[in-house]
Amino acid sequence: MEVPASLEGLHALFESYEPGSSQNLKRFLEEAAYKYEVGMKEFVHKPGHSILEFADLRVLRSLFRLQMFNSMAGYLRRLFKNEHLLQLLEFPVLFLGATPEKTPALYSLMNYADIRLGTWYPMGGMFKIVEAMVSLAKELGVTFRFHQEVTRVDVVDGQAKRVHTADAVYESDALLVGADYHHFEQEVLAPAFRQYNKAYWDKRVMAPSSLLFYLGVNKRVPKLRHHNLFFDEDFHQHAVEIYEQPQWPSKPLFYVSAPSVTDSSVAPEGMENLFLLIPLAPGLEDTDALREKYYHIIMERLEQYTGENIRDYVVYKRSYAQNDFIRDYHAFKGNAYGLANTLLQTAFLKPKMRSKKVRNLFYAGQLTTPGPGVPPSLISGQVAANELARAILS
Ligand SMILES: Cc1cc2nc3c(=O)[nH]c(=O)nc-3n(C[C@H](O)[C@H](O)[C@H](O)COP(=O)(O)OP(=O)(O)OC[C@H]3O[C@@H](n4cnc5c(N)ncnc54)[C@H](O)[C@@H]3O)c2cc1C
Repeated sequence: MEVPASLEGLHALFESYEPGSSQNLKRFLEEAAYKYEVGMKEFVHKPGHSILEFADLRVLRSLFRLQMFNSMAGYLRRLFKNEHLLQLLEFPVLFLGATPEKTPALYSLMNYADIRLGTWYPMGGMFKIVEAMVSLAKELGVTFRFHQEVTRVDVVDGQAKRVHTADAVYESDALLVGADYHHFEQEVLAPAFRQYNKAYWDKRVMAPSSLLFYLGVNKRVPKLRHHNLFFDEDFHQHAVEIYEQPQWPSKPLFYVSAPSVTDSSVAPEGMENLFLLIPLAPGLEDTDALREKYYHIIMERLEQYTGENIRDYVVYKRSYAQNDFIRDYHAFKGNAYGLANTLLQTAFLKPKMRSKKVRNLFYAGQLTTPGPGVPPSLISGQVAANELARAILS
């Protein structure tokens, strides 16, 4: 299926698979627009300290229209019958932390962002966004110290006073932690200053981990688009193998990004830069043999689809999976996408942004409010910084 970028094109695509469905797509996107607007205006900027932040009649009323209590799977099936269309609209949910049957229909706001706000790519790759933020922060007077793992924090009179890294000790007025929440509070902080225990963390539902391959291919692969989703196997089965019976998928769905299709700076002329991703349950066994087995499974399907021999042209290959997420990022259970977006892990039910035990300690990122993903994690940093400034200035 070729998914067009324009709305008119998408309406035509829906009609070709299910006559009459473009009217329901219109309705679906209008409802998703409402969820996006309300979500962005009323919910994501709340720090989630308490349920009282939501005790506003306007916000409470909106909860029903937001479809917090309906499932994405049920909602979509009332609007569409065709399996291909259903999978197209359900796929973003696969990364949120539950099957579509258990994910609130609220998250159709992601479809709205994809379809109506558009899919954008920073030329040069995602890291260009990081470089731009670093450069802006430096202009504003921020000093960065890279490659210094924080190993200990000294808490004196209920305040974080010193931060230890392998090479240095820094005095602190206040601390905003952007590292994995579980790692920081369970491994860096002393037990007396932890708010949650092992049993609490063991009960958290994590979003998926991933098996990734970074490939340099010494030829062009004309049939590839920038974004290619291989949803040619049973979606439900893979979702169950991530969330309900965690195991390596029997028939994996996967995503292939080929940025070299759009951006000539990411591969030498005549070559292709590919990134392959299989979503996996967090906490699975991760070995070189398993990685290699899945490499061949998905490359076989990629080669079949493109009609090209690709494996013999791979001049650079790197795999990345759970063990790497743990080693490089201290990611809890090797998760790639943070805490799952389940109803019981929403807003004030997430690990708290402000420490109850250390007065000048705040957390941001994908394990606290508002949740996982690049935009929510950035918003989290902004909200936590405002909370911190308010606390230390008051
Ligand atoms: C393959 C992949 C694809 C994704 N695709 C998307 C997508 O399409 N859209 C989307 O919105 N999101 C996507 N995500 C999710 C998104 O990238 C994350 O939710 C987001 O980057 C999390 O940001 P964060 O700041 O919380 O954590 P991180 O980006 O993990 O940053 C935490 C940092 O803290 C550092 N750290 C850890 N421990 C310490 C310590 N003790 N001392 C010092 N530093 C430490 C880590 O090294 C890391 O640099 C994807 C993630 C992956 C892995």
